[in-house]
Amino acid sequence: MDARDAGTDISEVLVSEEAIAGRLAELARQVEADYEGRDVLLVGVLKGAVMIMADFVRALHRHAPMDWMAVSSYGSGTKSSGVVRILKDLEADVSGVHVLIVEDIIDSGLTLSWLVGNLRARGAASVEVLTLLRKPDAAKVDVEVRYVGFDIPDAFVVGYGLDYDQRYRNLGFVGTLAEHVHAP
Ligand code: 5GP
Repeated sequence: MDARDAGTDISEVLVSEEAIAGRLAELARQVEADYEGRDVLLVGVLKGAVMIMADFVRALHRHAPMDWMAVSSYGSGTKSSGVVRILKDLEADVSGVHVLIVEDIIDSGLTLSWLVGNLRARGAASVEVLTLLRKPDAAKVDVEVRYVGFDIPDAFVVGYGLDYDQRYRNLGFVGTLAEHVHAP
């Protein structure tokens, strides 16, 4: 799906397909250098991280197995509460493993903070985080995010894995929704 297919639903393109591809290549070089000589397991958080995982792992010039978790975060409306339930767990035992969590977006950071704690409690050798997008509120949480694609303003965004009511995930870019789509 591209901007034409979305019609007037997208008010602004925040991060273009080209910008995403360029930034993921840069992050891939950093990750290759940081994990040189060490195995790393990429852990994607479903469903939003599907696109970034698919593109990021192909940008890597090294082996990097993938595993997936699905979690639901209880919250009101578009804000999460930090109370998390596992809907789909990892297949791999991460004890002694270097884990790199691959995320679509960090807003409050509450979901991520829980996830990092959960993987550390399972005995992972290290847990680091790579996210495509980060919003300003993420600064309030004490999770260190080593790899950030783009810092974006505090707006609700869709595309490149991110949905509104399960739609727009298949847009190639990240954009803000027009008011007529989400206005009550
Ligand atoms: P947090 O716990 O950091 O507040 O929320 C993280 C999750 O909330 C993300 O993985 C994503 O599913 C959802 N989320 C946060 N901000 C946005 C946004 O702007 N657009 C969409 N589509 N989802 C968001």
